[in-house]
Amino acid sequence: MKDILIVGGGYVGMYTALRLQRKLRRPLKKGDVRITVIDPQSYMTYQPFLPEAAAGNVQPRHMVASLRRLLPKVRILNGMVTKVNHAAKRVTFQPAEGEEREVGYDVVVMAAGSISRTLPIPGLTDVGIGFKSVAEAIALRNRVLSKIDLAESTEDPALRKKALTFVVVGGGFAGVEALAELEDMAKDATRYYRNIKPQDFHWVLVEASNRILPEVGPEMGRWTLEQLRERGIDVRMETRLNSAVGGHIELSDGTAFDAETLVWTAGVKPSQVVNATDLPIDDRGRIKATPRLNVEDTPDAFAAGDVAGVPDVTMPGEYCAPNAQHAVRQAKVLADNIVRHLDGDELKEYRHKYVGSVAGLGLHKGVANVYGVKLRGFPAWFMHRTYHLSRVPTLNRKVRVVVDWTLALLFKRETISLGEIEHPRDGFRAAVNS
Ligand SMILES: Cc1cc2nc3c(=O)[nH]c(=O)nc-3n(C[C@H](O)[C@H](O)[C@H](O)COP(=O)(O)OP(=O)(O)OC[C@H]3O[C@@H](n4cnc5c(N)ncnc54)[C@H](O)[C@@H]3O)c2cc1C
Repeated sequence: MKDILIVGGGYVGMYTALRLQRKLRRPLKKGDVRITVIDPQSYMTYQPFLPEAAAGNVQPRHMVASLRRLLPKVRILNGMVTKVNHAAKRVTFQPAEGEEREVGYDVVVMAAGSISRTLPIPGLTDVGIGFKSVAEAIALRNRVLSKIDLAESTEDPALRKKALTFVVVGGGFAGVEALAELEDMAKDATRYYRNIKPQDFHWVLVEASNRILPEVGPEMGRWTLEQLRERGIDVRMETRLNSAVGGHIELSDGTAFDAETLVWTAGVKPSQVVNATDLPIDDRGRIKATPRLNVEDTPDAFAAGDVAGVPDVTMPGEYCAPNAQHAVRQAKVLADNIVRHLDGDELKEYRHKYVGSVAGLGLHKGVANVYGVKLRGFPAWFMHRTYHLSRVPTLNRKVRVVVDWTLALLFKRETISLGEIEHPRDGFRAAVNS
């Protein structure tokens, strides 16, 4: 029996397994092949919906797809791969609890994605939060809303000001979309507060380079910058975060202020598991892949998505950017190449020219540059929603997302902070200690 092991059940992992499950139906049935996916989560996260989930337009459960439901013919193991010993064809698997153990394989697919790329900035670890997971998006939503509750309830002007100051570092699509959606939601929420006006908020976007949203090109990036500034968002270009100790924000342009919320979205780096493998790594810490999505000079190993450095054959000398557009298409070629590899056939090259991007900037607001077609405002927002709806996996999720959007439109979105979900035992502990 051939064992195919997929490390990571995100875009690349889930779509690769889904295609293999279909293409290898017969060998799977006969027991000639086994496919295993290892991921700490039992679901694949549709990350482009994180900003909408943070804004309360999409329910968190509706932006994830159950791996066990989608992949009934695949073995799913929940936990982390902490080591890949490809020479011995074994990985070390650590479940959430209990002893770690070794899992063997014949073919490995590295699809562990990326994590936030951070810098050693004083205070960042204590104060900052990333924006890559459902947990972070929902915690951030609860945090913003609870800070508005606090500002309404306190009589201390300094505390009120600090509570209503929100800083996002990084002007790529994760940062811009997160900030724009949350600002839109916060503004919307003010209708339920007596003493908070939209102009009381201080939303700050800090970007180290001289452009934001490079994914939609320079012209649309400039347009987005103007839009954000017109909305009263304080965008600091060519500026860096120097310190965040105790929530005291110091920027490289000399300004300093207090903020209770700091979101870090300044880029990504490959998942840490790459450092515990004997696979070749490039100078950016990515697994060295070839355009055929196998690992360079390494038989029986494949890699794609954010964890891999895949040469972009449409732009010689460049690498595919870490985005879903590539990840989902690479998964298709990767699965086909595994089947070819098992059959002893020649592998095919991955070729996709980046088509541009769409970004949501709050309800009815967006920006898009796709196949050179540039859209602003409502048409871009509509395109953003229809595009992502077409991409979110399974009909079940699509229907649920449409229902969420419709309900938010008809009954206004929910703007309640459920932050206590993060501390479910506090009430019980207080009762025990009383
Ligand atoms: C807020 C946000 C918005 C985005 N919007 C867009 C967009 O509009 N368009 C676009 O093209 N792209 C977008 N992206 C980027 C896109 O989501 C990623 O490029 C894509 O998810 C990469 O796919 P992947 O399979 O490589 O990684 P992921 O989808 O992140 O999957 C990696 C999986 O590996 C698992 N894993 C990690 N380490 C281990 C380990 N040691 N052992 C086992 N499992 C492990 C993780 O739990 C995860 O499930 C966005 C990203 C974010 C954060």
